Amino acid sequence: RDLVYPSDPTNQHRHRNQQTTSPIRVMTWNILAQALGEGKDSFVRCPLEALNWPERKCMILEEILTYRPDILCLQEVDHYYDTFQPILASLGYQSTFLPKPWSPCLDVPSNNGPDGCALFFRCARFSLLHTSHLRLSAMMLPTNQVAIVQTLRCRATGRGLCVAVTHLKARSGWERMRSAQGADLLHSLRAITSQPSGSHPGSEPVRRDEQGGGVEGLPVIVCGDFNAEPSEDVYGRFASSPLGLDSAYKLLSADGQSEPAYTTWKIRPSGECCSTLDYIWYSRRAFTVDTLLDIPTEEQIGPDRLPSYHYPSDHLSLICDVTFREPTDQAH
Ligand code: NDP
Ligand code: CA
Repeated sequence: RDLVYPSDPTNQHRHRNQQTTSPIRVMTWNILAQALGEGKDSFVRCPLEALNWPERKCMILEEILTYRPDILCLQEVDHYYDTFQPILASLGYQSTFLPKPWSPCLDVPSNNGPDGCALFFRCARFSLLHTSHLRLSAMMLPTNQVAIVQTLRCRATGRGLCVAVTHLKARSGWERMRSAQGADLLHSLRAITSQPSGSHPGSEPVRRDEQGGGVEGLPVIVCGDFNAEPSEDVYGRFASSPLGLDSAYKLLSADGQSEPAYTTWKIRPSGECCSTLDYIWYSRRAFTVDTLLDIPTEEQIGPDRLPSYHYPSDHLSLICDVTFREPTDQAH
């Protein structure tokens, strides 16, 4: 897969400005919980041997380490403590994990514990100011879905940002639940990003710029498996929220206006399921998108779709490089 430079007129400023730090590389991926892949998902065209954990974990790690993201947002993690946390810690990542309260993995015999979201960042690049572990609510009721929100400070520039990862309720018929969960997450993000940076005990102050914070609050990056096509309510909520978010992968399209045709593609007994469910949202006033990892073609994915011996999850990883706008840049 290639890193593509989107034809976004708003990022041309980059080449004029003297960037003193490299872009921030963000990766999000629903890596397919091992217990669900083996015990619940019924991928009818994927041989069980292709889901063998000792090999699949190497493929997942290889993909992560090929791109070495500064921020890594994973969903459906059911091997955090025995695999991802120790291995990525040895490679310079700090991380946190939040399991789903009633993970469906626990219904699978010989499971490895609950699945959940995990957020990793490179310690050389960021220091941690604050972590929120959220159980998402819908219509005031707690649900089985979670989100992690962290406030980070860029060591080189002192700039602050807020990063979130989530995995919303799956399946058709649950559109209103997803919309409500999205509203709850947006509400929490507004509260967290509007806090004065010094309010977290022991935290160093972060730099807030006109575009990068100030009255708008800290810049935000929200990643995850929203289990929702762009036509769904929850997508509209994020696209029109007061946080001023844009979806990075739209910039892969020729006109910069449409999402990729798919981020997951699998064959279940009920048939083929090819849909766009995964997103990287970013504060459009604070960041420009410099590069995106392209989406494999139908031919590259192959007739048996995902997962396979070549692709370890039924979801594709999304990666983008973002740069802080200079305070003098015009916001778009
Ligand atoms: P979701 O409906 O959000 O889905 C859970 C997982 O199933 C997701 O990772 C999803 O993957 C995957 N999935 C989606 N569609 C299918 C499909 N057609 N076939 C197989 N897997 C699919 O689950 P919830 O978090 O709401 O939990 C539901 C389950 O959790 C219940 O079935 C039950 O087993 C358990 N549970 C138990 C409770 C208890 O009291 N013991 C309470 C609540 C839940 P993706 O996101 O990639 O589509
Ligand atoms: Ca899944």
